[in-house]
Amino acid sequence: MTEQEQKPTEQTEKKFQRFRHHRRQFPRPQKDKINVEMEKPETQLAKTPIEKTQPVEKIIHHHQNKPIVSVVIPLLNEEGSLKELAEQLKTGLHRLAGNYEVIFIDDGSTDNSFNILKNLHLQNKRFKVIRFRRNYGKSAALMVGFERAQGQYIVTMDADLQDDPAEISALLKEIKNGYDVVSGWKKKRYDPITKTIPSKFFNYITRLMTSVKIHDFNCGLKIYRSDVVKSLQIYGELHRYIPVLAHWQGFRIAELAVNHRKRKFGITKFGASRFLRGFLDLLTVIFTTRYITRPLHLFGGWGILSFLLGLAIDTYLVIEWFLGLTNLGNRPLFIVGLILIIVGVQFISLGLLGELVVKGQQKQTDYSIKEIL
Ligand code: UDP
Ligand code: MG
Repeated sequence: MTEQEQKPTEQTEKKFQRFRHHRRQFPRPQKDKINVEMEKPETQLAKTPIEKTQPVEKIIHHHQNKPIVSVVIPLLNEEGSLKELAEQLKTGLHRLAGNYEVIFIDDGSTDNSFNILKNLHLQNKRFKVIRFRRNYGKSAALMVGFERAQGQYIVTMDADLQDDPAEISALLKEIKNGYDVVSGWKKKRYDPITKTIPSKFFNYITRLMTSVKIHDFNCGLKIYRSDVVKSLQIYGELHRYIPVLAHWQGFRIAELAVNHRKRKFGITKFGASRFLRGFLDLLTVIFTTRYITRPLHLFGGWGILSFLLGLAIDTYLVIEWFLGLTNLGNRPLFIVGLILIIVGVQFISLGLLGELVVKGQQKQTDYSIKEIL
């Protein structure tokens, strides 16, 4: 008996040992898909114990200590600009908000950027730093910054000194007029012509296709109320179209002309590929904002149009043929009609398939809720 009883416990113990060994070798995957190395800000460290154990007054105090403004700055290899940027931010923000935080997201820099940021953090704990293990792109960096930002208002800006920190006060003033997003407008722009002309074209097309009437969609300098950034989902290079995404969630958007400056250090991080990707992203944005819940309206409309046009053409030709007025073999229009009919049917089917996909996926969380009483 005793031997039999012991056997299973020994086995279980062995199993546990094997499991522990396995866990050491393959730790549980982290929830965040993006690999982050974080310089722990004190608030992050303090958060859980305070909320769990401290009396209520302390909690209120803790919440009152939340920054008014969070500045989120994604950067990739910007070692030249960082110190000057930090100085400008410090003077501007101290005067403006007193209680602020700056979150730098080092998007996999391979130069000295991270060490400079580390020093900034050591000198001033309002400067927080998140370091990606590799380059994930500006949108990913912004998303992670948005998740960590604790301020009432969240400002985004580029790290290359092209955006002017002195403009933050004007943006803050404007957003307090009742907007959810105020987007900067590089009215007088200091970039090479190879960038400004395509950019004008993009902005024009985007305005046309999205009915968001602002001049400069892709300005790095913007200010948001915190609930806007918490409900944005951006990835790839969708940061270009944040105003569109916010608009389609029902947020109120304004635009403000801001000072823009020449790039002083380093080089631009977006090459010519930006144009092709920008265009593809525009398609994604239009699709996922305007038509996400009703694909049949997009495809079905064009499908029916094409089908009916094809049908009319071919009916006409068949009647002529029937009356002996024409020989279908030498009427290319007949083929055009056939193609229109086939394309029409294809489009309608695509729309219906889309509807099926959407129906399977629709969740309540897809709707942007402003208040619940
Ligand atoms: N950036 C980034 N990750 C990237 C590319 C760029 O964080 O993969 C940052 C870059 O360091 C800068 C901002 O995004 O702070 C805007 O980039 P850049 O100035 O090169 O763009 P441009 O002004 O030329 O449009
Ligand atoms: Mg720039």
